[in-house]
Amino acid sequence: MLDDVKIDQSALTTSLASPGIQAAMSRARSTLGHALCLCNGSPSKLQIRLRDNKLHLAVWPNEGLLHHRECLFFRDEINEEARSHALTQKTPSDPNERPAYDSHDARHDLKIHHFFHLGNARADAPSSYEPISLRRLIDMLWIDGSLTRWHPDWTRDWMRTRYELTKAASRYSISGIPLEKMLFIPGANNLHTSPNSPNPWDEFVHTVLQGDGHTPGTGLLVAPIRQVSIKDRQRMSFLPRLMTEEIHLTDRCSDYIERTCSGSLHHLWLQNKGCRDYDGQISIKAMHNLPAVIGIFHVELGRQGVFSRAAHLLSVHPGNFIPASSVFSVRLIDALCDGGYTFERIKGFGKDAALRTPSWLVRNVFDPTGKIVPRAALDVVHHHSEPQYIQERKNLAAALADKGVPTWSWHPVGNPSFGPFPHLPPHARSSDLDAKTKMALIRLTPEVVYSYGNTTKGSN
Ligand SMILES: [Zn+2]
Repeated sequence: MLDDVKIDQSALTTSLASPGIQAAMSRARSTLGHALCLCNGSPSKLQIRLRDNKLHLAVWPNEGLLHHRECLFFRDEINEEARSHALTQKTPSDPNERPAYDSHDARHDLKIHHFFHLGNARADAPSSYEPISLRRLIDMLWIDGSLTRWHPDWTRDWMRTRYELTKAASRYSISGIPLEKMLFIPGANNLHTSPNSPNPWDEFVHTVLQGDGHTPGTGLLVAPIRQVSIKDRQRMSFLPRLMTEEIHLTDRCSDYIERTCSGSLHHLWLQNKGCRDYDGQISIKAMHNLPAVIGIFHVELGRQGVFSRAAHLLSVHPGNFIPASSVFSVRLIDALCDGGYTFERIKGFGKDAALRTPSWLVRNVFDPTGKIVPRAALDVVHHHSEPQYIQERKNLAAALADKGVPTWSWHPVGNPSFGPFPHLPPHARSSDLDAKTKMALIRLTPEVVYSYGNTTKGSN
């Protein structure tokens, strides 16, 4: 709301600079001094600021949490901080300073930084390109595509995921080439092929990877993986789902995957061999909780087909593709979805990410004292974790408590696929009585602690 003119939020992203909107902002600035956001029923104030000769709207300091979760002006300093570490440049220290829209003319230009080009890779890159690893790129596509988040009204399958990834890709370019032009994500139509029309992958290989005849092209492939096999020596080949052609990894790339993505490799191995119960039978229940594996490959065309010098694997929930590094995470996601919660997986970046960012945030729940809070942190800490990691998670819970955020901490014991899932923090929709009962059950569950700061049961 500007002065007394109502403006749709989508117009702010597409036509902020239009004379009509600028004039309305200018009027509102001189009369009221601020704009109002009506996303949540009760109006929230917005700042009107002049920057680069254009008026912009910005969230009122410390009011980001008052906006609707899907509003452009929703801010939570906890995930804003994680996000600001995703890219090294253009990161304002004040989260309220981030422009409230993503203008489409400002693509973020990146240069893929192969993990083994250590040393002078940065020096080679033109200064306007930001070097990025595939690991970070896939995380950013997931964050920008809202694939790390969940709202109870949403549904998501691979085709939806593919659509969101393609949209997220349009915010980036790689060495000047729009990312979506060099990106292939297999869809259902990729397996339908006829003599007259090549399938989309063949076309991608022909147009993108063959290059212009002088210089060979490169591309990116993001796909769920069906199978991994070991070829001559230690070289790996991955067969993506919805595709019939394998991607061959170079020695160095195979070595990197083996060292860095061992968890995801293990998930693929279990998918192919089957998770076995204690009696040696393949367990359907355990198979159901197994994360699916997504691969990102920097691909080129070689003599023996398509090969990859750089790749990374990401384990995700098999149904909604939210990042899930373990069976525990898959079960947590299932419990949150079944309970109708709004939640998100926070991807921390940088070395001390574990000290700064909780892995999960759930919105609108009762806190341990029976008060409704805008968010609580969720944490899964296995008993076998390194003592140093356990200590870091404790320190993080203490830091979050200082910000008024309680932590629900699950310390699973035994076979991760079996046993009842512990109670989550009660949803704000619950009745007081229901919330009190659930809280009492949480206190009785030995594997779970829900408190401000102290994540260990039975100690002070
Ligand atoms: Zn709003």
